[in-house]
Amino acid sequence: MPIPAGRHFLQIPGPSNVPDRVLRAMDMPTMDHRGPEFAQLTRDVLSGMQQVFKTAADVVIYPASGTGAWESALVNTLSPGDRVLMFETGHFATLWQGIARELGLQVDFVEGDWRHGVDPDAVEAKLRADKNHAIKAVMVVHNETSTGVTSRIAEIRKAIDSSGHPALFMVDTISSLASIDYRHDEWGVDVTVGGSQKGLMLPPGLGFNAISAKALEAGKSARLPSSYWNWQPMIKANATGYFPYTPATNLLYALRESLKMLLDEQGLDNVFARHQRHAEATRRAVRAWGLEILCQNPAEYSGSLTAILLPEGQDADQLRQLILERYNMSLGTGLGKVQGRVFRIGHLGDFNDLMLAGTLSGVEMGLIAAQIPFNKGGINAALDYLADNL
Ligand SMILES: *Cc1c(COP(=O)(O)O)cnc(C)c1O
Repeated sequence: MPIPAGRHFLQIPGPSNVPDRVLRAMDMPTMDHRGPEFAQLTRDVLSGMQQVFKTAADVVIYPASGTGAWESALVNTLSPGDRVLMFETGHFATLWQGIARELGLQVDFVEGDWRHGVDPDAVEAKLRADKNHAIKAVMVVHNETSTGVTSRIAEIRKAIDSSGHPALFMVDTISSLASIDYRHDEWGVDVTVGGSQKGLMLPPGLGFNAISAKALEAGKSARLPSSYWNWQPMIKANATGYFPYTPATNLLYALRESLKMLLDEQGLDNVFARHQRHAEATRRAVRAWGLEILCQNPAEYSGSLTAILLPEGQDADQLRQLILERYNMSLGTGLGKVQGRVFRIGHLGDFNDLMLAGTLSGVEMGLIAAQIPFNKGGINAALDYLADNL
């Protein structure tokens, strides 16, 4: 294999590209996490994250992957044997469901086809049928990263409300936060789960929970064991600007820098619009190629990534490997049920028009090299859309 020159294209749907200035912000001496400067850093990142979650409620930051933040949402609010309602939207929903089972929860896991988001009517029907209110929580993945399908959280909230059911509402926003519009308070979410390495443009290593007053209250009677994940010592220490254990100090420097970019310089609404625009341009390319977008409901198209289904008999992983070897670009693999059938283009985080043009060019050259039947012209379709929609 030749030694590649030029930049690697990291177009998986997370971890995403980290801007150089965020990398520079991390390049700092280790600091005293009990010293006076640290308290200001804590306050800056917590208030910035409240703006990103669109909440006035508590936010906690763990030195952890997103998976840790998933577990935290559960162990802080629920008790062994509690029933929870979850939906098989794809690989990540399946993984979160697995954690719930391992912790001893009884999961009602509603089957899905991996091509649609959570159906709000199904949520309402399930909750209406639960007359005794045995279901303690409804858990939904906002942007299903394995399929490129975004569930409609505001509509699911309405469905919960019209059923009159008191269940907690928990949402995984690991691949939507700071990429796709999200409103923790307005949409009445009780626990929102986030991670650092996708829309927030940071390296992996931070996990987040945004926590409603109702979730905190539920925590008082929750009996699943929790120590490291327990919200109470975290919230108590954060109030003074500190953490109950050593935080990931250099990642917090990085977070302060990315929050400055997202909130002060770019503006969240512009960031969301940029993601939608790149996603639409990508879909135009896919359609012009004559390939199939995995997501079947246009109201649920993802702004973060596009999953593409190859024709029967074609191997998506072989295509990805060829593109990596020839063009030095990483694309997302098909996960779980759709492995080998699907590849994913990540267009989230620190990304612009020419990066998209390069990404789509790499895919088109890969399709030619892999001798996969397709129509040329995808790149032009995408570029025309970008030019007409500045
Ligand atoms: C990436 C991702 C996760 C897992 O996060 P880790 O940091 O790998 O633990 C969970 N849910 C969704 C929707 C994701 O995209």
